[in-house]
Amino acid sequence: MPNTKQVKDYIRTIPNFPHEGIMFRDVTTLFLDARGFRMAVDQLLHPYAGIRFDKVAGLEARGFIMGGAIAHQLSTGFVPIRKKGKLPGKTIAQSYQLEYGEATMELHEDSLQPGEKVLLVDDLLATGGTAEAGIKLIEKLGAEVIGCSFIIDLPDLGGRAKLEAMGQDVHVLCE
Ligand code: 5GP
Repeated sequence: MPNTKQVKDYIRTIPNFPHEGIMFRDVTTLFLDARGFRMAVDQLLHPYAGIRFDKVAGLEARGFIMGGAIAHQLSTGFVPIRKKGKLPGKTIAQSYQLEYGEATMELHEDSLQPGEKVLLVDDLLATGGTAEAGIKLIEKLGAEVIGCSFIIDLPDLGGRAKLEAMGQDVHVLCE
């Protein structure tokens, strides 16, 4: 029988992680499966076929897994956007609001050149705060985000609308 499983079918939901009441969408089961992982990488890139990117940027931490594979496929460099205090070189920082409090993402200041075209990648889009911070960091260095690609969108949380209101092209594999 042919395997008709879609990307969504490889993702499992873990209730009450990391906190009571949260339904955590776990993509490690997608990454674990050779067919599922390849399908996800191919589909994340699909709308951008024929575009020449200079860099792929991944958001910590699961964006690194997708982003590394995509950068290899596109033969581009990879740029990690990390949580505060993790990058060893000189960084620029962007803070954003969480439900309770604030978080900060950082980018090496020499990781992108003005005018470079970037594909931004992460596993999941919720409120869009993390991705918005990533876009602002990339733009602070004068580079341009051509597309934002995510495995999962949680549409009720409004992340996609937030990024599209910034003029971004948003691509998601499942909701
Ligand atoms: P946002 O900033 O859009 O509210 O949250 C998105 C970030 O939180 C992403 O970096 C994503 O990895 C992480 N995240 C939030 N909830 C989940 C979840 O249920 N599953 C996974 N895999 N990541 C999540």
